[in-house]
Amino acid sequence: MTLNHQEFLRYSRQMMVEDMGEEAQQRLKDSTVIIVGLGGLGCPASLYLAAAGIGKLILIDGDEIELSNLQRQILFRDSDVGAPKAKVARKRLSKLNPHIKIEMLAEQVDRQDLVGLVDEAAVILDCTDNISTRQEINRAAVAYQKPLISAAAMGWEGQLTEIRADIQDSACLACAYGLEKDEPLLNCSTAGVMGPVLGVMGSMQAMRAIQIVAGNSIQEESRISRFDGKRGSWSSFGMPVNAECPVCS
Ligand SMILES: [Zn+2]
Repeated sequence: MTLNHQEFLRYSRQMMVEDMGEEAQQRLKDSTVIIVGLGGLGCPASLYLAAAGIGKLILIDGDEIELSNLQRQILFRDSDVGAPKAKVARKRLSKLNPHIKIEMLAEQVDRQDLVGLVDEAAVILDCTDNISTRQEINRAAVAYQKPLISAAAMGWEGQLTEIRADIQDSACLACAYGLEKDEPLLNCSTAGVMGPVLGVMGSMQAMRAIQIVAGNSIQEESRISRFDGKRGSWSSFGMPVNAECPVCS
């Protein structure tokens, strides 16, 4: 379906931006993005993607909203405590933008679920804080050659890992980290995290997804970027392919 008058008005400010005209907006409308995890990363990422007019979002999260989530998970309200995240997120996002389709899976995702969903996605966002789920998402991205934008944050720092499995000879998550299954000793629940750091990282995930879908991404390799929230500075480096990677070689 082509863009209607309401959509032209709604997206007018982003359609004025260089490389983001009508064709790019139409590509956003015709695309599906999967967001795995609706925590501190998935909340800002899904808000921006819904607002930007990604035609279909698939939201996956099996958790319920807890009081300690509200400091950073900006889709949720005090009165939502105890409700399923995926359900509440779908309701809020469809109120933000009624022109898009939103599907949800309110359960812990496994390999089988991912295989069924990933095929139609243009981009996958990994917004989880769980290593074994992250490994499964990476496997699915490599198998279906889909770009995967993964992020993590702790304390004042964030990390963005862009896996361009859609481009030949790009490194995957397992090239860099192997197949480790052990959870790190420090994570959000033990070491804490600043809400705005997650806002920065989730926004970066949304921006990269928009660029890839719109077809104006100038970065065509797998990369890791680190954000230092105390200094407000970034560092970034390419990821070498591991010829013995258990997932992509
Ligand atoms: Zn690999």
